[in-house]
Amino acid sequence: MSSDDKVSIEPYFLGPKSENEYSIREKIQQTLDHWFQWRKSLFEDDPPAINKQMRESSDYKAKQQKISESLELLNELLEAETPTYTPRYIGHMVSEISLPAILGHFSALLHNPNNTSAEVARVGSQIEKEGIGMLLDLVGYNSELGGGHFTSGGTLANFEAIWRARFRLDHWLSLALYLVDKKNIPLDIFSVCSMGWDTFYAKVQEYQVELNDLRAYSLAAGNPWRVANIIARNSSRPFLGPVLLIPGNKHFSWQKGCNLFGFGEEALWSIPLDKHGRLNVEELEKLILKAHAESRPIIMVVSVAGTTETGVLDPVDRVQDALDRFKSERGWDIWHHVDAAYGGFMCALNHHSSVASEILSEGQAAALRGIARASSITMDPHKMGYIPYSCGAFLVPDEKNYVVSQFKAPYLQRQDIKMSKWSSTIEGSRTASGAAATWLTGKSLGFSSADFAGLIASTFKGCQDFKKELSQTYSWVRVLEPSATNILCFSVATNGQKLSVANAQTLGLFEKIALSPNFSVSKTVMANFEYGAAISAHVEGYGGEIDTDHLLLIRCVFMNPFWRKSALGLKVRAAMIAEIGELSGMNC
Ligand SMILES: *Cc1c(COP(=O)(O)O)cnc(C)c1O
Repeated sequence: MSSDDKVSIEPYFLGPKSENEYSIREKIQQTLDHWFQWRKSLFEDDPPAINKQMRESSDYKAKQQKISESLELLNELLEAETPTYTPRYIGHMVSEISLPAILGHFSALLHNPNNTSAEVARVGSQIEKEGIGMLLDLVGYNSELGGGHFTSGGTLANFEAIWRARFRLDHWLSLALYLVDKKNIPLDIFSVCSMGWDTFYAKVQEYQVELNDLRAYSLAAGNPWRVANIIARNSSRPFLGPVLLIPGNKHFSWQKGCNLFGFGEEALWSIPLDKHGRLNVEELEKLILKAHAESRPIIMVVSVAGTTETGVLDPVDRVQDALDRFKSERGWDIWHHVDAAYGGFMCALNHHSSVASEILSEGQAAALRGIARASSITMDPHKMGYIPYSCGAFLVPDEKNYVVSQFKAPYLQRQDIKMSKWSSTIEGSRTASGAAATWLTGKSLGFSSADFAGLIASTFKGCQDFKKELSQTYSWVRVLEPSATNILCFSVATNGQKLSVANAQTLGLFEKIALSPNFSVSKTVMANFEYGAAISAHVEGYGGEIDTDHLLLIRCVFMNPFWRKSALGLKVRAAMIAEIGELSGMNC
């Protein structure tokens, strides 16, 4: 028996033909019954507000009828919605959502808690804490010490990371500027901005600093232009501001974040990629030294676990190794954030080495294990957690990485990170539905369970099987390697073709597929200035010629749970591959 014969995910999804219809009907009814009963049983002496006489009036009935008709209209409109639940949908990072997630979302929705404060979310806040705990366990952070919160998505979770990294850098910088000003202690701008909290507090003690006095030297709490002038006055060169080091394969939310936090685009230093489109660690080390040489403090280093374009995993473990070396050799404490919006749930494989060894390379397995060593993590339960929108999460391994925004001493004054979140989240009002959906999935399916690991593994295998058959059927299908997780990208090219010709053919095929009612894919464009090495490797693979600055690819995301081991999966795969051949207009 292979490991996936033991896996059963069928009870956890409605099924493409609503096979589990009875089960969900029953559970929604169960939830509604609780909700009705709850209201009836509270404040028993209160009279009803709506009586039978009202309900029977024609005006009342007409209004109820109007609601029904409008609902019917909405339901009919939604029949034209993108059918993302079927294996025929391999477009973007969305697929069937799980039954526990739908039920958790629905159940919390009826009570409408606002997780901004425990005062309006007595239960919602607790569910959030426990749901975050489940994600901490999944990625390998200690769930007793760690923390975090649910966000509306990966974008917001990435902003939460920038906010905190800047808070930390800003504290350390303010202290150093204060000490220059008041005690004439010379300034090494790069090093002070990575001094570490232990050094920070040691100096606060040593020089008897009142934290409030640092405000005048803060980029965030004071006047940033004035602070830049103080820095310039105390160093031999103008101050050009801090930088954020991030690989060229990043999601566009990082540009948005830097813009919002007032860092110019120049502050985003792009870490070059290797020929697999992954962060190149040697290049990262060079950039850190360059930042030091140019006195540009580092806000944070980002690596990506599961890139949006191709699903590859940056060598997160080796990035952390490099940062650990800088820390031990030079005392630089540099924030490492892992954007695991897409790949975070692949950490389920960390808990099942036999499943992992069937589908992961050693490098991938090490990268996934390395995530637990980072300073903070972005996850998107609404991607591979099979949770409804909108649900992202921001995670930290301990309280000191969670503090933000207030000029408070993270170690000395314990911030309450557990319950009321309003002061430490970018968003104000926050739904508890994402937390409840995650919680219920964790309680039933379980994120570290063999079933969940099997589900993730099945998406990898579905992708690999599709890739094998597609590339064996058509010689002109050029798969981007490594298609290492569950995303497949390919271009259309015959031997020796120019890249511009291949791009036109690939786009032509994409546009035809986009018009097909039978299935959906997406497309992506890799630019040469970021993906140069990967583009060269790809084009060399068919002896082609690079005559343009980008590579256009058809992108297929295999998240659907029903790809493997089902007659449906086999049928859909064969049908899609045949149609790709017909639409391509290429000779087979
Ligand atoms: C999807 C994604 C994001 C953004 O997440 P949203 O939930 O769409 O806001 C960020 N980073 C990566 C790597 C992603 O794949």
